[in-house]
Amino acid sequence: MAITDTAFEIADGVYRCGSDRVNWYLIEEDDALTVVDTGFPTHWQQLLDRLDALGYELANVDACLLTHAHPDHIGFAERLREFEDIPVWLHAAGRRRARAGGDPPLGGLVKNLWRPAVLRYFVEVVQSDGTSIPPVTAVETVADGDELDVPGHPRVIHVPGHTEGDVAFYLPDRDALLCGDALATVDFETWQGNRPQLLPPWLNVDHAQARASLDRFESLGDVVLLPGHGDPWTGRLTETIRAEQIRS
Ligand SMILES: [Zn+2]
Repeated sequence: MAITDTAFEIADGVYRCGSDRVNWYLIEEDDALTVVDTGFPTHWQQLLDRLDALGYELANVDACLLTHAHPDHIGFAERLREFEDIPVWLHAAGRRRARAGGDPPLGGLVKNLWRPAVLRYFVEVVQSDGTSIPPVTAVETVADGDELDVPGHPRVIHVPGHTEGDVAFYLPDRDALLCGDALATVDFETWQGNRPQLLPPWLNVDHAQARASLDRFESLGDVVLLPGHGDPWTGRLTETIRAEQIRS
């Protein structure tokens, strides 16, 4: 699938990477970088290209943070950890899934393959080596409320529901919220629209919990929302939270 090839600064010192369907990000601070999520294994070359375009190399990467341990978010994490000695951070509740190489919601995926957008997504998974993710065998753990001493100094917000261990990373000084799959800005079933929304129930381990977790975003005010899937979106999430509660 098409991988965008120019570095794209989407918020202050935050760069969007990945493909048309899967996002991961680089956060820059004082010539050091944090990688947030790692797409598919085949996105490795894009990491090298992006670093090069920004005038950096792997030695400038201090940390890798994972919003959760699904295959489309942990693709090259083990490569960073094992071969480049870059620590990988994840919520403790995501460890098992990371060791299992992602453990995707295959049943729901198969049932929804009749939807053209889901089928296209699945084709990308296969073409991007997303069916054989190297297990992430050792991680540092993050917990709700942590303020991480890594580039960008993100604050950890635990938002379980999509998986047990989903976290969002909030950058207070840049008003950026890297929300993983707690919210997408596109309808996963049709790949239409551009507004924050929950993923469909068949992609969430506990949909009601995913909805309840949105309350954690209520107090953040205006944010640049940077999701795992879909384009960036700027605004206040209050209405999104209300709309999702009404849909229940
Ligand atoms: Zn996911």
